[in-house]
Amino acid sequence: MSARILVVDDVIPNVKILEAKLSVEYYDVVTAYNGPDALEIAFDQQPDLILLDVMMPQMDGFEVCRRLKADQRTAHIPVIMVTALSEAADRVQGLEAGADDFLTKPVDDMALFARVKSLLRLKMMMDEFRLREETSSELGVISMSDRKDEAIRRARILVIDDNEFSVKLMREVYAETYDITMEPNMEEAQHLLRTGDFDLAVISLDSATYDPLRLCSKIRSLEETRQLPILTLVDESDRDKLLKGLDLGINDYVMRPIDTNELIVRTRTQILRKQYQDRLRHNFHRSMELAVTDSLTGLYNRRYMLNHLEALLQRAKMDYKPVCVLIMDIDFFKKVNDTYGHDVGDDVIKGFSDRIGTSVRGIDLACRYGGEEFVVVMPDTDLAVASTVSERLRRQIAEKPFADAKGKVELDLTCSIGVTVSREQEDCDSLLKRADEALYKAKRDGRNRVVVSSANIVSVEKYPGVAVR
Ligand code: GH3
Ligand code: MG
Ligand code: MG
Repeated sequence: MSARILVVDDVIPNVKILEAKLSVEYYDVVTAYNGPDALEIAFDQQPDLILLDVMMPQMDGFEVCRRLKADQRTAHIPVIMVTALSEAADRVQGLEAGADDFLTKPVDDMALFARVKSLLRLKMMMDEFRLREETSSELGVISMSDRKDEAIRRARILVIDDNEFSVKLMREVYAETYDITMEPNMEEAQHLLRTGDFDLAVISLDSATYDPLRLCSKIRSLEETRQLPILTLVDESDRDKLLKGLDLGINDYVMRPIDTNELIVRTRTQILRKQYQDRLRHNFHRSMELAVTDSLTGLYNRRYMLNHLEALLQRAKMDYKPVCVLIMDIDFFKKVNDTYGHDVGDDVIKGFSDRIGTSVRGIDLACRYGGEEFVVVMPDTDLAVASTVSERLRRQIAEKPFADAKGKVELDLTCSIGVTVSREQEDCDSLLKRADEALYKAKRDGRNRVVVSSANIVSVEKYPGVAVR
């Protein structure tokens, strides 16, 4: 994960040490020796992460952090406060200034890289998210109202720890903000994780009753939990275990004795990242769906159908299989709008699409082609079958009246349908044109009928009850 990191400290050797450590890991490092310079560089160069010393003359780290977080050019950049003071009061002050994390001097390598990685992952998620949101709203794919629909729920944490003292502490720290489940048994915990839809697992690495590293490795290897963040609680003396854990993919850790502020911050970072990730995935699926479907009817849209039909015809070029298409248009639809209004018109279009959806086969693709016109693509289907499908559809429309959503209006409506089959080596345009001509003839001949395009018909008698052009 390559990234640009800004290191800020008034003591030159401190800067040099951090710069050296980070450069070894291939991070791109920029440096500043006082607050005002740090702000300028942050605005100009947009680093991915800032390591910020607290005690500096002129402007201290808290003030720099406050200014970074108050400016929209830099508010999204994670800040790690690097402090010689490990006092709880400083952590609180740092948090209030908007810091995302802390490191204590002298900076321990393992802590440095664990925190840097964890915050960079979070930032990558957030950047990606902002970008997609921008693109989606530019394209009009996801509107503000879609965003409101996203349920905001309390995050869920599973705590796996058999130490009563720390379980009690976590209960106190988490209860107000999160839904927590405590589970000291590893087998049970695994079961819960598979089914429980958690946002974070907090795992104690010093257990007397289970093998915590095995549990971490299980979580990483199972499909259902692969993305679940893991925060571990570690004894100072268990550094070896912690190193292995980091190798296995745990996301962060808190040393015992547990500092509650630290626990709160690290928990929040992990949960935020998980939630961004979930929202990204959700929005991705949603925009895929919106990009291919019509919002009123839920049928595929014209663009999707054309792509799909093109692909079917391409495939048919190598190994000819007939593709049939029908075009259907509601008869005298303008009258519905003129008499009852556009809303009732929309309800009718929706009602039509529901009937189309239920009368075509699973392999057929139904689409809203335009205002009150629909196309059904029937792959690997000959014209006899397609005309039967068309006739059945025509009947289902004509047999039962349509009601508006309020149930006030009942309308007897009919439709006209043109249907045809692909020739060998035919393209999309010419196929649809032939279906459209058949539809036009159905309209001309009096509506409420199916016309099969004769272009490919060998024997007319094969299609009883259906007009042939
Ligand atoms: P015909 O039997 O010849 O098809 O007569 P028609 O009245 O249906 O004529 P035409 O197909 O040309 O008119 C379609 C009308 O559908 C025109 C347009 O105002 C209306 N329309 C198109 N899209 C929508 C829509 O999304 N909602 C509503 N309510 N009306 C629409
Ligand atoms: Mg019409
Ligand atoms: Mg029309």
